Amino acid sequence: MSAKVLEGKGLAQHLRDEIAREVKLLREHGRPVCLAAIQVGEKPESVLYVRNQRKVCEEVGIAFRLEQLPGTVSQNGLLHVIEELNRDPSVHGIILQLPLPARLDARLAQRAIDPRKDAEGVHPVNLGMIVYGVTQRAPCTAIAAYHLIKSVGLDLYGKEAVVVGHSQIVGKPIGLLLLHDFCTVSTCHVATRDLAAHTKQADVLVVAVGKAHLIKKEMVKPGALVVDIGVNRVPVLDDHGQPVLNEKGQPKHRMVGDVDFDGVKDVAGWITPVPGGVGPLTVTMLLRNVAEAGKGVNH
Ligand code: NAP
Repeated sequence: MSAKVLEGKGLAQHLRDEIAREVKLLREHGRPVCLAAIQVGEKPESVLYVRNQRKVCEEVGIAFRLEQLPGTVSQNGLLHVIEELNRDPSVHGIILQLPLPARLDARLAQRAIDPRKDAEGVHPVNLGMIVYGVTQRAPCTAIAAYHLIKSVGLDLYGKEAVVVGHSQIVGKPIGLLLLHDFCTVSTCHVATRDLAAHTKQADVLVVAVGKAHLIKKEMVKPGALVVDIGVNRVPVLDDHGQPVLNEKGQPKHRMVGDVDFDGVKDVAGWITPVPGGVGPLTVTMLLRNVAEAGKGVNH
C-alpha cells in the first residue's frame, strides 16, 4: 500500500482566499483588519518569523504592525505595550514573538493579551474554550492538524486516535478536538512505557514531539491516517554517512518530521509530509484567528 500524501498547501490556499475575501469586505465597510506583532530584541529566528508573518498578512490584506522593543525591556514595560495594544481599537490580533529573553516571563505576557485579540490561541481562556468545543481562537498548530484530519472525510466516530506529545498548545488541544468527534483518544508522552503498543492501535496517529523519525513503519497500523507535526533540522549525509557540505564548507541541513516518511508511507492510508503538511496551514490559522477577531466573532 502507498499512502495518499496530504499536502497542506492546497487547503491553506483555499482558506487564505476565503480570508482575503472576508478581510476585503471588512475594509470596504471601513473596518480594516490589523495584526500587531511584538518583538523583543532581534533574535535571527524571530526576525525570520516576523518577516514571514508580514508577508502572509499582506497577501490576504491584513495590515501588519511591528512593535519592536529593545532586548533590555522590563516585564512591566512589555506588559504596558500589551495593555496599549489591547485598548487600541485598530488592532484586532496580537502575537508575541518567542523566545523572549530568559529574564522575561512569556506565560505572564501571553496571559496579559486580551483573549479576543489572541492571534495564536495560547491564552488560557482560549485553551479552555476547546473543552467546550469552541475554536474561534484555537492554538494555530492544533487546529491546523485538526483541519487536515477533517479534510480526509473519514468518519471519526469510534476511531482509535493516538496523540504522541502532550504540550499545552499542540498535543493536549488536538486530543480534545478529536474527543469532540468521538474518537477514543490516547495521549503518549515521555512516561509512556511502550509507545509502539499504542501507535499500532491508532486509526488516527498525530505526532508532535520534535524527535526526528521517532515513528517507524512497524509502529503504524496499516491504512492509518498519520499527521506529522514535528519539525527537526538534521544534517544531510552522503552514501557513506558523511555530512554533505555547502559552498561555504558548512554542513548542509534539511527539515524532517517525527515520522519516518519513506517507511511509513508504505503502510499508512494517508500521511502528511514535512515540510509542506501541517506547516502551511498553521500560518493560515493565525490569519483565520485575526480575521475572526476583525469580524468581531467572539466566544
Ligand atoms: P514541546 O512543547 O517540546 O512538546 C513535545 C512533547 O513531546 C512533550 O509533550 C514531550 O513530553 C513529548 N515527548 C518527548 N519525547 C517523547 C518521546 N520519546 N515519546 C513520546 N513523547 C515524547 O513541543 P511542541 O511545541 O508541542 O512541538 C512539537 C513539535 O512540533 C516540534 O518539533 C515543533 O518544532 C513542531 N511544531 C511544528 C509546527 C508546525 O507548524 N508544523 C508548529 C509548532 C510546533 P514531556 O513534556 O513529558 O517531555
